[in-house]
Amino acid sequence: MILRAKTVVTMTGLPLEDGAVSVDSSGRITAVGPFAEVARGAPGGEVTDLGEYVLLPGLINAHCHLDYTGLRNALNRQASFTRWIARINALKRQMTNDDYLEAIAAGFREMRAWGTTSVCNLEAFPELLARMPRPPLRTWWFLELIDLRSRVPADTLLAGALSFLERHEDWLGGFGLNPHAPYTASPELYRLCAECAAECGLPLTTHLAESADEEAMFRRGEGELAAFMRQIGRPMDDCGHGLSSFANAVRNGLAGPGWLIAHANELDAADVALIAATPGDWHVVHCPRSHAFFGHRPFPWEALEAAGVCISLGTDSLASNESLSLFAEMQALQQARPRLTSETLLKTVTTHPARALGKAGELGVIRPGAHADLIALPFAGATAQVYDAIVANRSPVPWIMLNGNIL
Ligand SMILES: [Zn+2]
Repeated sequence: MILRAKTVVTMTGLPLEDGAVSVDSSGRITAVGPFAEVARGAPGGEVTDLGEYVLLPGLINAHCHLDYTGLRNALNRQASFTRWIARINALKRQMTNDDYLEAIAAGFREMRAWGTTSVCNLEAFPELLARMPRPPLRTWWFLELIDLRSRVPADTLLAGALSFLERHEDWLGGFGLNPHAPYTASPELYRLCAECAAECGLPLTTHLAESADEEAMFRRGEGELAAFMRQIGRPMDDCGHGLSSFANAVRNGLAGPGWLIAHANELDAADVALIAATPGDWHVVHCPRSHAFFGHRPFPWEALEAAGVCISLGTDSLASNESLSLFAEMQALQQARPRLTSETLLKTVTTHPARALGKAGELGVIRPGAHADLIALPFAGATAQVYDAIVANRSPVPWIMLNGNIL
């Protein structure tokens, strides 16, 4: 099949005018270029002419919690991050497995409407996967692991979660591991996850340096989160030594290069210097609107960029956001950082998260060999304005292809 559009944004070079993409029956892209050239290379191929549209890679959400899609507007901004956790935990106790399954399905519908074709979902209830229909989007299920109050040893916990992996080989996407955060997952659990991920080739993600409460807990052993953790019996010997949550995790080998580090809102100059001094591929996931909801201090974009960190965007969940649109996330980031070009903004939802997932060249780009995960938006303007027009989009995406199939 040949797809023709007024403009094609490949994310590997300049936008193409009167461009075309050919897709084979296995759902891979076989050619991209000017329409005349692509058509010559595939004589007799069926042509779908999208007309005055821009065709671009489907968007990739690098951090969300589909479990909480039912909680839109359910939580007001709380006085602290710790109180928000207490509030969401109270709401979670009222929810059933059916509620979560419906929330996940609704989240998929909303993401698809906004042109997201791949998603990193942090799944707190891996047991739901046994009842889950085949996901409608390319999904990485990051199994959220917490051993804070568990009497189950970390290796048993992990073995239980991993047993779900083998049964879903026909699903698009894959699995990953998510020791939740250094205040809820033990160092032992972090290390087991890292070992297991290395062995099985799984991506890893964790929440790190998200809130001022987390910083106060690790640096000084103080604050609301520290008090809450003490109260529920967390060993606190890793807190109060003046080390930030981030430095504590990196220096003790809990997380580092290769991980999708979610949030990193609270990094200071010493933390960024630690990144610069530690070789490897550093990935941070920023959730602009969730960041604004919590009122965290300004996200250290410039410092992370200067340290060579690859930054991707996520929506977080609807317990701290109003929609699952990555266009809205790009727009929020653009407001906070007007000097960023629209092309850079688009990379944070295409090529950057693809790299973070180890899928550089396969996702987030239009090139031969990549998966045909594509979206198209109406676009009648000049090619030079195409990135601005994409980032400014405020309407649901009318045309989506996933793995070579038009949805
Ligand atoms: Zn999260």
